[in-house]
Amino acid sequence: MDTQKQIGNMKDSGKFQNLKIIPLGGIGDVTKNMYVYEYAQDIIIVDCGVGFPDEAMLGIDLVIPDITYLKDKKHLIRGIIITHAHDDHIGGLPYIWPELDCPIFGQRLTAALIKDKFNEHNLPKNKINTTSLDSVLDLGVFRVSFYQVSHSIPDSTGLVIETPAGRIIHQADFKLDWTPVSGQLTEVDKVTLAGQKGVDLMLIDALRVERSGYNLSEKVIQPTFEKIEAETKGKMIITTTSSNISRIQQVINVAVSSGRKLAVVGRSMEGNFQVARDLGYLLVPPAIVVAPDEIRRFPDNKLLMIIAGAQGQTGSALSRAANNDHRFVTIKPSDSVVFSADPIPSTEAAQHALIDRLVKLGADVYYTGLTEELHVSGHAAAEELKLMINLAKPKYLLPIGATFRQMKVFAKMAEDLGWERDKILLCEDGQIIAMSKDKIQFDGQLEIRNVYVDGLGVGDVGSIVLRDRQVMAEEGIVLVIVPVDSRTSRIAGEVDIVSRGFVFEKESEGLLNDAKGVVELALKDHPDSILDWRFTRRHIEEKLEGFFYKETKRRPLILSILVEV
Ligand SMILES: [Zn+2]
Repeated sequence: MDTQKQIGNMKDSGKFQNLKIIPLGGIGDVTKNMYVYEYAQDIIIVDCGVGFPDEAMLGIDLVIPDITYLKDKKHLIRGIIITHAHDDHIGGLPYIWPELDCPIFGQRLTAALIKDKFNEHNLPKNKINTTSLDSVLDLGVFRVSFYQVSHSIPDSTGLVIETPAGRIIHQADFKLDWTPVSGQLTEVDKVTLAGQKGVDLMLIDALRVERSGYNLSEKVIQPTFEKIEAETKGKMIITTTSSNISRIQQVINVAVSSGRKLAVVGRSMEGNFQVARDLGYLLVPPAIVVAPDEIRRFPDNKLLMIIAGAQGQTGSALSRAANNDHRFVTIKPSDSVVFSADPIPSTEAAQHALIDRLVKLGADVYYTGLTEELHVSGHAAAEELKLMINLAKPKYLLPIGATFRQMKVFAKMAEDLGWERDKILLCEDGQIIAMSKDKIQFDGQLEIRNVYVDGLGVGDVGSIVLRDRQVMAEEGIVLVIVPVDSRTSRIAGEVDIVSRGFVFEKESEGLLNDAKGVVELALKDHPDSILDWRFTRRHIEEKLEGFFYKETKRRPLILSILVEV
């Protein structure tokens, strides 16, 4: 494709054309990153992530960006470029890509992890392209090149995007770590070069701007793990974000040096481990890894586990283990459990509940609030940001991947560096930024809503309320009331079941009595987990759902309430 000629044509024909930059996600709530760049008849997209539901979003698994704006523009989309393989940058692809059906570009590990996701969702992989650091993508009027950055997953990149309206640096998640575990340094030379040619706008990861100074190197983590390992009499169990490949490597190193076998537990953890090992991003000595179903064959003090569920996600391997509901992993008082990840704001409560649960089981639990150097952020602290900004010397700055509070701190910092306030763009999702050769300004706002993903479906669930209404309308509702003694965690009376719109209670006394039995049995499965409400509710609801479906072929909305008495 003759890009130069196209750029020339655009200049002639589109004298009043602006480049539009629209964040569809990634601003204000940190996750579900997705940025649209649109010029005349061409669109490129950078990243396509998921967000994570908070406590209020009952029944919702994931939140994805709202792509309503792109629905009638599919034919203009030249590609989605992915900066790195964290879920808040790639996790939306399985839900959103089928709607857009355009090429996807990412570095080697990024492309491999996207393919793995597509396998899981039964999607074709023929439009996933593997790029290198030297790749130059001509996508309509856009020319995109890559530079490597340090982050907590290998093959992370920043982008230089040449557009008819000027040169842009899209700097998603990064940090400056000169001794990274992956060996991958931030290519500041390429940023400097772009700066010398002239950068008009820099989008930059501002998540950790509140942290003064520099981050510690990722390297400090391993000695902390080693110290805890030496003090652990039973199993050592480490949980981290399953995409944190560098952290997983450090866990492997500790297993090797301590002579423990390594078990990788949890679907997301096993998947990422497999892909990264196959591609050579994880160095794993032979015969050190044992399958989860072999764990029992080894004494506890010969086992090191890396397990999914660092954010306290319900249904994750660690949450199941903590509730005595995992097939292969049980937690004992002699075990250590290490949380090597900071909670993300929306999941903080869930993580804390899980830590409490583990402490109650008697395990030694280590987490960042308590122990230093268990986790190093993958995001640049203030001095790292200042360096990067000074190398690129952009005319305009746009902080991304941060909360509003952090963007405000970023603006203050940039002013201190000499940027005028009107050159620092603080925006929110859906805001349209119009960029021409001589200025950048806001130009309207799209209405953006949260799109929820629930189970296998779909992205078509408009809101929780809507979903619940539908189930109630079609199948009715069953209310389970469990009285619990808050001091002893025991059931403090008879379970009560009320149904509306499901079966006529007077005629179905037998069925509802049997259902009571199902609930009582379910409560006996995990007698000491009853006060873990999230877990217990889910367990009751799963059992009842199965029972009702078997008996009636209906799936009413089941709502269980534990009443402390
Ligand atoms: Zn990231």
